[in-house]
Amino acid sequence: MFDYLIVGAGYSGSVLAERLASQLDKKVLIVERRNHIGGNAYDHYDAAGILVHRYGPHIFHTNSAQIFDYLSRFTEWRPYQHRVLASVDGQLVPIPINLDTVNRLYGTNFTSFELEKFFASVAERREPIRTSEDVVVNAVGRELYEKFFRGYTRKQWGLDPSELDASVTARVPTRTNRDDRYFTDTYQAMPLHGYTRMFERMLDHPNIKVMLNTDFREVKDIVPYRELIYTGPIDAFFDFRYGKLPYRSLTFEFETVDTPVFQPTGTVNYPNDYAYTRITEFKYLTGQEHTRTTIVREYPRAEGDPYYPVPRKENAELYRKYETLAAETRRVYFVGRLATYKYYNMDQCVGQALATFKKIEAATNGDMAKDS
Ligand code: FAD
Ligand code: UDP
Repeated sequence: MFDYLIVGAGYSGSVLAERLASQLDKKVLIVERRNHIGGNAYDHYDAAGILVHRYGPHIFHTNSAQIFDYLSRFTEWRPYQHRVLASVDGQLVPIPINLDTVNRLYGTNFTSFELEKFFASVAERREPIRTSEDVVVNAVGRELYEKFFRGYTRKQWGLDPSELDASVTARVPTRTNRDDRYFTDTYQAMPLHGYTRMFERMLDHPNIKVMLNTDFREVKDIVPYRELIYTGPIDAFFDFRYGKLPYRSLTFEFETVDTPVFQPTGTVNYPNDYAYTRITEFKYLTGQEHTRTTIVREYPRAEGDPYYPVPRKENAELYRKYETLAAETRRVYFVGRLATYKYYNMDQCVGQALATFKKIEAATNGDMAKDS
C-alpha cells in the first residue's frame, strides 16, 4: 500500500514526493506517462552532445529565498541572466522595450527622462486595464505595441491580445533605463548539471518509486494508495465533463548547426516574421563549450501536448467549474500548472507544491492528535 500516488514527475509532483518521503516518511509512487522525469523542464544531451531542453527553453528565476534554498539542496547553480533581442524593422533590439530599443528603432538619442515623456505622449490611456492589449498600449502606445506585441501574441496564442487577460503581456515590463535583462529577479541561475540531474537527486529516496511510461488510467484501479496527488490537466481527470479546457501547445524544431555561435544572445523573438515565435540557442543558457551549437524554434499549436493554460475570462469560468468538482473530490490534491490551470513559472510551481505540503503536514498532524 502506498501512502501517496502522485501523477506526474514534473516540479509539482517531484517536490511533493520529496517532501512527503523525507519529512513525513510516507511511501510514494509517482506515475509518469512520459519516458523521463522532470516534466516540461526535462533536459538531455542531444546527438551532438549538446545539453538541450526538450520542451523549450527553461530559465530559472525567483525572488523567493525559500524556493531558491529549497532547490539548492538538489543542485549547484551557474549564475545566468537571460537576454532577449526582438527582430523588428530589420534590426535586433532589446525586449523588454528599454531606452536602447527606442533609440535604435527611431534613431533618437533620448535620455531616460525624455523617454518617459515620449511614452507619455504616445501612450493611449486605458482605464481599467483589462486585456493584454490594454497593458501595452497604455504603457508605450499603439505603434510599439504593433511592432513588438500584436503579431507575437497572435502567433503564440492564436488570439488577439484584446482577447487575452492583462496578465499575459504584463509578464513583460517596459523600461526607461538600459537594463536589457529579461528578468530582474533576485535569484537567476541555471542548475549546474541540468534540470534532469536536479530531479534525479530530488527523487533519490528509498520511500519514492517512479514508474515511467505509465498513464494514471492504467494503474488507478490496480495500485493501492491512500491519497492522490494529480498534476496533469484537470479537465482530463474529470473526463472532460464540462468540455475541454484550452491548453496551448507548441512544436519544437531542434537544429544543430556547424558553427560555435548561431545568434548574438540566448533568445531572439520574431514578432512579425515566420511561423515560429522565437529561436533559442542553448549554449548561452547552459554555458557549455562545444564546436557546434543547437538551437530550437517554437511553433505554436492549438492541439498537442498541453503546455500553457490560456488566460481569459471564459476559460477561467470553465476552470472554476472543474475547481469546484476538485474541491468536492476527497483524498485528491490538484497541484501544478496543468491541474490548477495557472500560467505558473517553475518557481511558482515549487512554491505551490511546498504550500500544499504544509497543508498535508498540518492535516497529518491533526489526524495524529485525534488518534492519540
Ligand atoms: P509539468 O512539468 O507539465 O508536469 C506534469 C507531468 O504530468 C508531465 O510530465 C506529464 O507527462 C505528466 N502527466 C500528465 N497527465 C498524466 C497522466 N494521466 N498520467 C501520467 N502522467 C501524466 N518556467 C520558468 O520558470 N522559466 C522558463 O523559462 C520557462 N520556460 C518555459 C517554456 C515553455 C515552452 C513552457 C511550455 C514552459 C516554460 N516554463 C518556464 C514553465 C514550466 O515549464 C512550468 O512552470 C513547470 O514545468 C510546470 O511543472 P508541473 O509539474 O506543474 O507540470
Ligand atoms: N510577448 C510579445 N512579444 C514578445 C515577448 C512576449 O508579444 O517579444 C507577449 C506574448 O503574448 C507572450 C507573453 O508576452 O506570450 C509572455 O511572454 P513570455 O516571454 O513570458 O512567454 P513564455 O516564456 O511564458 O512563453
